[in-house]
Amino acid sequence: MEDKEFPHFEVAIVGAGFSGLGMAIRLKKSGQSDFVILERASDTGGTWRDNSYPGCACDIQSHLYSFSFALNPNWSRLFPPQPEIQAYLRETAARYGVLPHIHWNCPLLGAAWDEDEKNWQITTPGGLITAHVLVLATGPLSEPSLPGIPGLASFKGKLFHSAQWDHACDLTGKRVGVIGTGASGIQFVPEIQPQAARLTIFQRTPPWIVPRQDRPIPAWQRALYKKLPLAQRLVRLKIYWQREAIGAGLVYYNPARSKLIAQLGLNHLKRQIADPALRAKLTPNYAIGCKRILLSDDFYPALTRPNVEVVADRVAAITPEGVRLADDREIPLDVLICATGFHATDAPLFTKIKGREGRYLSEAWGKGMRAYLGATVSGFPNLFLMIGPNTGLGHSSMVLMIESQIKYIFEALRAMKKEQIKAIDVRPEILEHYNEWLQERLKGTVWNSGCKSWYLDKRGQNTTLWPGFTFTFRRLTRHFKADAYNSTL
Ligand SMILES: Cc1cc2nc3c(=O)[nH]c(=O)nc-3n(C[C@H](O)[C@H](O)[C@H](O)COP(=O)(O)OP(=O)(O)OC[C@H]3O[C@@H](n4cnc5c(N)ncnc54)[C@H](O)[C@@H]3O)c2cc1C
Repeated sequence: MEDKEFPHFEVAIVGAGFSGLGMAIRLKKSGQSDFVILERASDTGGTWRDNSYPGCACDIQSHLYSFSFALNPNWSRLFPPQPEIQAYLRETAARYGVLPHIHWNCPLLGAAWDEDEKNWQITTPGGLITAHVLVLATGPLSEPSLPGIPGLASFKGKLFHSAQWDHACDLTGKRVGVIGTGASGIQFVPEIQPQAARLTIFQRTPPWIVPRQDRPIPAWQRALYKKLPLAQRLVRLKIYWQREAIGAGLVYYNPARSKLIAQLGLNHLKRQIADPALRAKLTPNYAIGCKRILLSDDFYPALTRPNVEVVADRVAAITPEGVRLADDREIPLDVLICATGFHATDAPLFTKIKGREGRYLSEAWGKGMRAYLGATVSGFPNLFLMIGPNTGLGHSSMVLMIESQIKYIFEALRAMKKEQIKAIDVRPEILEHYNEWLQERLKGTVWNSGCKSWYLDKRGQNTTLWPGFTFTFRRLTRHFKADAYNSTL
């Protein structure tokens, strides 16, 4: 293949969410402009563009859930609602001049490493492009996952996933079913409950829910943050350390201490649900924190309304008319909403990235996802993942991890340029050793305490979460570790 026939970029970034935009801004700030962002949609925002369901909001306080270099004094609430976060990302991208670099409606369809040219050949609907470095900022939670319940496709009513909310579907007076009571489900149920004629919640496992304690940020505080950015930095710092303290409880799991913390959730449940039968249905039977701890003040109250039923029995099948339970009870529905999460450990993209010797990422990850510092995979030179394996958090803002990765990747690119390195490939033994260390550390955490969650892959291995504090990850990613790589000059 003749490279010059195709548009060529030094760096191709895939995805225009927090990760992709943050990476692009870092490049732009350093004076680089030889990069492209491929985005399959027609707007920025990623998670915060796609999840437009009613009530969608962040679970981390706004002051911490934003870029450290672009604090926003205008957040309206402690926990920002989805449209505000999306607007923030759009405005930040515009402010730093990265929008002209984005190729909209341009999904990466496949990418293959060209060993001769030391480039990535990237297939898009508009044709092939090549890039020296490929950064996959495609999001760990960007591919909605529908439940594998028999008969799903036969449903004759309206069916959609919470991340693909059908805003044209009027729920007024409808019999609505919701599968799933995770982070998304508990946010939109209180919003749609007043509209639906009947609302049936199909619950597999009750989540741990604690008070949200959200509130508007008063105008005087916003004015203060504008005038005195240091004040907002101090608030951010306080939230940061509060969250790291919560992290300590999750990372160093102690069943006795965990029971004490669980009391917070149990008290919340008791205060909000008077009916003992419903309360029993909603009482979790696993360690608090093993699945994501959810924040809500209005989910439990919504479940007590006369038009709502919580069904904890197993769903046996979806029929054309509705849902059939394991005891043969039929629940007729007009609309079925799946709040069933994402392909966090088995994204289709993994089957489209071809590294050295024609090996796909899905093959390299045959025994589970793994990447050195969540970023680099042996056999995939000049490929960087953002929010790759074991970089997720159960306690704090993902933007902290994203910024650590931006720094690491940026340092890697700088080192490659300085040393005139054509290709870097993480040494297999380094990756192996790192992964062993990670899995060993995960053993003592609450996430590996026995519950079934999306943090675990189909083998029961935790390939999604970072088993420590965010400052430890920051320290590990502060400098590019050239020794960990085989370099081709
Ligand atoms: C409902 C929900 C709530 C969340 N709440 C929180 C929270 O409270 N706190 C927190 O820290 N984190 C939260 N998260 C996690 C959140 O995903 C991250 O915080 C962050 O937004 C991830 O940013 P990202 O850029 O890595 O990925 P994303 O925001 O998912 O962006 C990925 C981008 O890549 C694009 N893309 C994907 N595949 C391709 C392709 N093949 N070609 C081209 N483009 C592609 C997508 O269209 C998307 O724009 C939440 C996630 C969800 C789904």
